[in-house]
Amino acid sequence: MRTQIGEGEQIMVKLWVLRGLKKGILTSKYPNKAPTEEEIPIKAIPPAATDSSDWEEGQKICPTGAIETEAGRKAGRIHTGKCIYCQRCSVAGFEFSNTANSNSLQANFATDVGGRLSNAEVLKRYESNWKTFKKSFHILMIDVGSCNSCNLEVLNLSNPYYDLNRLGIFLTNSPKHADALIVVGALNKAMFDILKRTYESIPNPKLVIAVGACPISGGVFQGTESFVSPVRDIIPVDVDIPGCPPSPIQILQGLLIAMGTMKPSYSDDPSTKPGTSTMSTRKEEAIV
Ligand code: SF4
Ligand code: SF4
Repeated sequence: MRTQIGEGEQIMVKLWVLRGLKKGILTSKYPNKAPTEEEIPIKAIPPAATDSSDWEEGQKICPTGAIETEAGRKAGRIHTGKCIYCQRCSVAGFEFSNTANSNSLQANFATDVGGRLSNAEVLKRYESNWKTFKKSFHILMIDVGSCNSCNLEVLNLSNPYYDLNRLGIFLTNSPKHADALIVVGALNKAMFDILKRTYESIPNPKLVIAVGACPISGGVFQGTESFVSPVRDIIPVDVDIPGCPPSPIQILQGLLIAMGTMKPSYSDDPSTKPGTSTMSTRKEEAIV
């Protein structure tokens, strides 16, 4: 049956088309261009230590134990996988940038807590993941006890602005079709078996990506009665995406690292901070 549309509706459709043509393509330019300030909200940028940072005071204030130091020491490290970006430590001299910078992108290949990978190991994972997943990368999300914010940010990636599919990444609801399991939330007792069964249902080769402080460390839920443990203690995690919640661009960065499109730059020098250096994409390397 044909439906007639009225004159008013026809005008609306024409205006809608004209508006679209005038505005042009609004899809994010990331990863071909660096993220804009709007794409990395201030609340998604981790703290940075300065010469005037009081580490011991910061350690006392931090609600999740993200500031790690020893008594009497004037230095330490900020564990971004534990940080919930609450900004409390600003009173102890830790700084928060209000613009996106290389520090805003924090996703990395997962290591043991406090560990770091050698350049050779990074290169090995980068090449082998690319060989396996370059044609398409299907991701399945499981919520093991979240506040729902990380889920929303992951799902945002499928809207026209982020347009996940343009990069060969697709959301799926079936473990049988998945290449990677995205875990959001702090693992609680009720989800323990479900997480393990879901992981086992995904065929090899497969990856696990922890999105947000909750699966990486427990975040604000660590030490609560139903909290089990960081997800890495139950199933092997390949990529960590810190944040509470991470912004969609930060999640996208982690997915690109996981599938081997983007190489995080690591250093064997223990005096440098892991994960804060610049990243390169395969396209950039081809241009070089
Ligand atoms: S922002 Fe909050 S959670 Fe993060 S280091 Fe500072 S006090 Fe700790
Ligand atoms: S990491 Fe933060 S935003 Fe994400 S589920 Fe946990 S509490 Fe919520």
